Amino acid sequence: MEYLSRVLSFVTAKMNFKYHALCGQLKLTHLMLADDLLLFIKGDIGSIMILLRVYATFSAASGVQMNTLKSNIYFNGVATDVKDSLWVKWVNHIYIKGANWTDYTPKQDSSWSWKSVCRVKDQFKQVYSTGTWTLQPKGYSMNSGYQHIRFKFPEVSWHKCIWNKWRVPKHSFINWIIIREALPLKDRLVQYGVCTDDRCCICSIHAETHTHLFQQCDYNKA
Ligand SMILES: [Zn+2]
Repeated sequence: MEYLSRVLSFVTAKMNFKYHALCGQLKLTHLMLADDLLLFIKGDIGSIMILLRVYATFSAASGVQMNTLKSNIYFNGVATDVKDSLWVKWVNHIYIKGANWTDYTPKQDSSWSWKSVCRVKDQFKQVYSTGTWTLQPKGYSMNSGYQHIRFKFPEVSWHKCIWNKWRVPKHSFINWIIIREALPLKDRLVQYGVCTDDRCCICSIHAETHTHLFQQCDYNKA
């Protein structure tokens, strides 16, 4: 990310880059928080193209790829038709490159996230016939679209203990991982070669497995 900062500083000084209206005085182009990245620019084509080239350079040097499923573009003070145009230009420039989107197939070496977008597009094609959403009479809705593309597994008896509106999301996630016995406890870390001692971190007697740590360890029984 330090490399990205340096390249951005370089191009904004040397090229005809236009700052976001509220960032010009500070010469602010980006903010980083952990692995999240916010980029600020004026919404003109020239600045966007510069930014895309900077990101392509950064990706080639670092191997880091943008996750398009987790990425968003936010506009302020830009006409709707320009927003559409910018989004279409961006996707075309990076991925589609003028091909027919309906029949488009991602390249073999495309990123996992872009292949996922294309896979969803193909799934939607199956139920979108001559401009009509065939899954429900009222037409397309987010709910029916999501139900169509999501993986469906048999309902388990414990799901309401984990996923309900009163739970803290982080707690739900950890509980879910525990029930699936997928926490990286010592019994697993030993198999991976990360450590050699698989004894419980609390009692130091028995092997640290999910069953022991959450049900059998004397500390939990006390
Ligand atoms: Zn123990």
